[in-house]
This record gives sequence, structure tokens and C-alpha cells, in this order.
Amino acid sequence: MTRLHNRPEDFADEMIEGFVAANRRYVRHVPGGVVRSTRSPEGQVAVVIGGGSGHYPAFGGLVGQGLAHGAAMGNLFASPATGQVRSVATAAQNGGGVLLTYGNYAGDVLNFDAAQEELRAAGIPCETVTVTDDISSAPAVEKHRRRGIAGDLTVFKAAAAAAEAGYDLPEVVRVARHANERTRSFGVAFTGCTLPGADAPLFTVPEGRMAVGLGIHGEPGIDETDVPTADGLAELLVGSLLAELPDGVAEARGARVVPILNGLGALKYEEMFVVYRRIAGLLEEAGIEIVDPHVGEYCTSFDMAGTSLTLFWLDDELERLWNAPADTPAYRKGSVVAAELDEIAEATDAAADAIPEGSAESRRAAATAVEAIAAIAAVVDANVDELGHLDAIAGDGDHGIGMQRGAHAALAAARDTADAGAGAGTVFARAADAWSYRAGGTSGALWGVVLRSVGEALGDEHAPTRDAVAAGVRSAANGVVAYGKAQLGDKTMVDALLPFAESLEREIAGGARLAGAWSTADSTAATAAAATADLLPRMGRARPHAEKSLGTPDPGAHSFALIVHAVGEVLVGSTDEGKEHEHA
Ligand code: ADP
Ligand code: MG
Repeated sequence: MTRLHNRPEDFADEMIEGFVAANRRYVRHVPGGVVRSTRSPEGQVAVVIGGGSGHYPAFGGLVGQGLAHGAAMGNLFASPATGQVRSVATAAQNGGGVLLTYGNYAGDVLNFDAAQEELRAAGIPCETVTVTDDISSAPAVEKHRRRGIAGDLTVFKAAAAAAEAGYDLPEVVRVARHANERTRSFGVAFTGCTLPGADAPLFTVPEGRMAVGLGIHGEPGIDETDVPTADGLAELLVGSLLAELPDGVAEARGARVVPILNGLGALKYEEMFVVYRRIAGLLEEAGIEIVDPHVGEYCTSFDMAGTSLTLFWLDDELERLWNAPADTPAYRKGSVVAAELDEIAEATDAAADAIPEGSAESRRAAATAVEAIAAIAAVVDANVDELGHLDAIAGDGDHGIGMQRGAHAALAAARDTADAGAGAGTVFARAADAWSYRAGGTSGALWGVVLRSVGEALGDEHAPTRDAVAAGVRSAANGVVAYGKAQLGDKTMVDALLPFAESLEREIAGGARLAGAWSTADSTAATAAAATADLLPRMGRARPHAEKSLGTPDPGAHSFALIVHAVGEVLVGSTDEGKEHEHA
């Protein structure tokens, strides 16, 4: 239960404001997150971390000397948008290039990868290492597919200490990869978590039961058992982790290991100490030399009651980097030589740049665009719980709230932009930015691509022709495929979007009017979305729990079908139908 909030949709922003106000010695606010408020040496590699909010101290709490240079902070449990990552990395860099490092989740990968491309295009060398410590999320042979949980800390710490020691970008990357290879975690949960304003937990664990291998956003676990004793839990955690030694560690006996017992938010430190007592005993019995153990909260999951154990298998270099001093809001070690405060004025979110005026025809189309986006927001509102439930079956349950945040932000931006005299192209472009910024996550980024593509096709000059609309939808489909790399049959929104685009093109090429063509395409999308129930997901957060989703349609494909249907109703009622015909 989250008891204290104002408007729930403002929660993440207000949390960041308060966090910065309380920690100016360490951090300053930049659009998209925070960077160190202290000056870093010229040429030092910048380590930029990030992810959704709701995991404090991950990620903003780990920014400061000896640890991260910046953190992109997304909305609650939602990846930061591409623009946010780019903005934070640009503010954090010191001329030595940027390492992006974060937990391996589909939405984060999508947005951080896109930001990496944009940074490189801007002349900033940039590399990425994703953290994949959670052994329950994929088998060892597929380690690259595993998600990142509390093991983030060891990778961030080693990479940042290397940067601080003057390593260049390829060397920092090497260290980060090596630290990730030598970090393994395993977790359990006893209750779900409830996001601010929500009246039900995101997921639940039955009373007296324990979800084994549950993800930090409620992604389903691999097993469920009765809650064991504290000693029993220690045995499960240690046993699971010792069953998979990292490459390069021949045997547990004699190895030097940092154990991190991480609380997920609602577990008491005292309970964790009781568990740790037995963990330490078991590690010693296995002949492991325990180094610098950590018991506390390093990556939480809102108010979830649960815990994970991370083992970080040291070698000389990693041990030296781990022991280097650090001073951040939530993580301190040794004593750093305090750096000077940077005198840069606090930046708030990007100043709005001027809105180009649209032609009279395009301004009329902009009014229809606003209506269409209002219809999208309304249909998402009406189905928000169902979308969340569909996503909770094999994903993380945030599809409804993510789409809702995105659609409403897009609507507000579209209204403001249209009121300022913009044409349809600019209205869609601003709506696209607002959607991807506010929604975060995979679907937020992809709906940003969709709206942006449609806006580019329509432009601000002419009344939209049906050919321009079909071309916009086609380019949206191509853009989503290029960005998300999913193919037909992977059980994503692509399975509804591609058939929709093809059907719309076919109908229009055959001479149909826009509203009629759209309605045929809309039926095609509905059928295709329903048919995703028979598919196994191969992309996104749902992938580790593929078989659980058989029989349920993909949430993103389903919301796509709902949305195009709602937009179709606006097109039927739109007075542009006659004009669109003249121009076609
Ligand atoms: P997240 O996966 O970040 O939690 P959402 O829950 O909002 O984001 O959206 C999940 C939906 O996103 C999935 O149901 C799927 O339709 C879509 N999706 C996930 N990955 C991809 C991808 N690579 N390409 C296209 N669509 C994707
Ligand atoms: Mg989701």
C-alpha cells in the first residue's frame, strides 16, 4: 500500500523533485533524470545508469562520486524514454565517452539502444552493458536473456570505479561485462506491491506462500512454495546460487565473494539479518571467503515484501574496484576526496520551442487529430484494467497504466499544440513526444514512433489525403519493426499493426474512401489481435513466461485493435471525409 501521494500521475516527478531537494550535495536535476552535482575530471568516462522509478535507491540514489555520473529516471516501473536517456547522458558526459548500463528489460533496451545511436550520431562515443544477474529468468546457456535485479549494484560500482581510476571507454566496458559475468542473483517474494493511487496490488502472492524467482515488477516466478523458515530461505537462496558458478570460477572453495542480501521494500532489516546469519554460515561451510557483505535495500520494488541474494565473485581487479570509495545519496564507502560543486544552473524540463503555424487546411485536420487522440485516451481509460490484467498474465501488468499515462499526455500536448495554431503534422509530433516521455516502457516508445510517423506523413501544409494517411500508417508499421525488431508471429503489437497497414493500403489502392478503408482494416486488426492468443511470445517482458500466455491475446496487439477501432469512429464522423476525397 502506498499511502502518501498527491495526484498519482504526478508521483514520479514529485518524487524526483523531493529527492533532488534533499540531495543537492550529490545530484542536480536535468531533463529526464539526475546527474552528479559535483565536477568530474575532463575526459573521464561517464557511467549512466537508469530504468523505471519505484526501485530506490536504484537508480537516482546511486549517482555521486565513485558511482554513477547520471541516472535516467523513468516513470514508475517504466523505462525512461529515449530522449530522457539522451538528455541525461549528454549532461553527464565529460568528453571521455559514455557507458550506458542498466537491467536487461525489453523497454529499457529499446530506449537505451535508441539513445546510444543518437549519442553516437552527436559525436559522443557510447557503449552499453546490460545487467543480467537473475538466474531464475532464463537458463545459464541463455544468460544474455536474463533480467537485471539487485546485481545492478556490482556492475555499476565496478564500472564506475574503473572510470574514476582513469580507464578508457573500452576498458570500462570490459570491466562492466566482467563484473556482470561474475554476478548472480536469486529472489523470492511474499506479497505484491501497490502503485500510488492503485486500489489493488499489481500482483498478489497467496497468504502463507512464497513466489520463487519473482521479478522486481511482479513478473511471474518459476515456482511457489509455502513460506519457509528464515534458515530454510537461506538454504534455498545459497543452494540455488552455488548450483551455477560463473565461468572462470572453478570451485566455490577458496573463492572470494561479496554477498548482497537485498530487501525489496517491505521486509524488515531484522528479518534479513536472521536470514543472513544462516547465509554466512552456509557460504563458510562451502569454503567461500566472505568479503564486505551487504544486507540492506539496494534495489527495491515499491512496497513488495521479498528479498534476493546476490553473489559477486571477485578477482583481484574486481575486488580493488569494489573497495574503491564512493559517496552517493544511498551508497557510501571509504572516503572520497570531495569534488567541487558544479555551478551550472538547475535545468528544468526542456523549454518548449516555437510551434510552427500550420496552413488553414492542416489546422482543420489538426482538430480531427485532437479528436482522434481524445478517442484513443477514452478507449484506453475504458479498458485500462483489462489491459493491465492481460499484461499481468505473462508480463509485468503495466500495459494499462502505461497506455493511459501516454494517451493522456499525448492528448494534453495535442490540444495545446493545436490551440497554438499548429498543423496536423506538428500536433502528432508533439503528441508523440509526450506519449513516449510520459508512458515509458516498450509500448510508450512504440506509440511514440507510430504518432511521429503519422505526423511526418501528414505535415503542416496540406489537408491530409487518404494516400497520406495510408503512407503514414505504413511508415508507422515500418518504424515499429525497425525500432522494436519484432517480426510477425512474435506475439506483439506488430501482429495487429502490420495486417492493419496492409489492409488499409489495399483498400485505398482499390479506391475505397478513408473511413470505409479504415473500417475494413480495423476488422482485420481485431481478428489478428485475437489470433495472437495462439502465439508464444518471443519478444518483450512476456518472453520468460511464454507458455503462461497461451490462450491470452497479446496486450499490445489488443490495445492496438481497440485504438484503431476508436479512431475509425472519429473518421466516420469527421467532416473531412468529403474533402479527403477531393484531394485523393
Ligand atoms: P513493457 O513491456 O515495457 O512493460 P507494455 O506493458 O506497455 O511495456 O507493453 C507491452 C506490449 O508491448 C506487448 O504486449 C507487445 O505488444 C509490445 N511489445 C513488446 N516488445 C515489443 C517489440 N520488440 N516490438 C513490438 N512490440 C513490442
Ligand atoms: Mg508491461
